[in-house]
Amino acid sequence: MSATKDYSNNVNPTWCPGCGHFSILRALQIAASRLEIPKESLVSVSGIGCSGRLSGYMSSYGFHGIHGRSLPIAQGIKLSNKDLTVVASGGDGDGFAIGLSHTLHAIRRNIDMTYVVMNNQVYGLTKGHTSPLSDVGFVTKSTPYGAIDSPIRPGILTLSSGATFFAQGFSAFQEELVEIIIKAIQHKGFSLVNVFSPCVTYNKVNTYQWFRHQLVNLQEDENYNPNDLQGAFNTLLNTNGLCTGLVYQRVDSEGRSETNDTPLSKLDLKITEEEFNRLMNAF
Ligand code: SF4
Ligand code: MG
Repeated sequence: MSATKDYSNNVNPTWCPGCGHFSILRALQIAASRLEIPKESLVSVSGIGCSGRLSGYMSSYGFHGIHGRSLPIAQGIKLSNKDLTVVASGGDGDGFAIGLSHTLHAIRRNIDMTYVVMNNQVYGLTKGHTSPLSDVGFVTKSTPYGAIDSPIRPGILTLSSGATFFAQGFSAFQEELVEIIIKAIQHKGFSLVNVFSPCVTYNKVNTYQWFRHQLVNLQEDENYNPNDLQGAFNTLLNTNGLCTGLVYQRVDSEGRSETNDTPLSKLDLKITEEEFNRLMNAF
């Protein structure tokens, strides 16, 4: 039986004290422990940004990729070895600016892996400028009169791209976040989890306190049906996207998490050690 500490290495996170990302890291480690995923079968892939450091703090296989490219790398890893549990992570800028097209196409491909968006509605690592998820009017050094562009709505965008699993969490609600990540990993297809993860240094608007007052917890609504796509769209529109819990999961006629039936999922790209060495020597 594995313990949460088994997925933690000796590297001290350099995140600012109070950063929401600590909770996401911990939630992922707890989820891996409860699912008893062998460390050698878990791969954490990250992009660039404060969020990108997450893979370096996991005691598992990891890959710290380039900006906005965690998903192509993660999909390649999963396709080359389907026995692995692959969890990609990245910030809102990573996933919805430079990496946006990868996000949309990964959703369409529906490869069996999880993507955790560590969403603080700002670029933290590069000192606090607007991201595509910043609200209109958000004042930063680069937008002293407030952001003028409408923010991307991650939930609406994800569902309209054909997502089979979309959930949202909040760094301050860790137990709920653990349960969401467990469901996401268990989903047989591409699962996207958007986590509201406050940046305590550069976002003084979307704070822990602000989210506590805004967020609607879908799990508290016994009538909410996460398998109803129309209902999921309505909920996202009615709450302005400010809800947590399992928003939507496509299931088959018997209520099971739909199996990954895309053509890519049927490919077996596992390569032999001999072939791997041949490819490496070619470089
Ligand atoms: Fe977290 Fe913001 Fe600090 Fe980055 S700058 S570590 S996102 S609090
Ligand atoms: Mg960000």
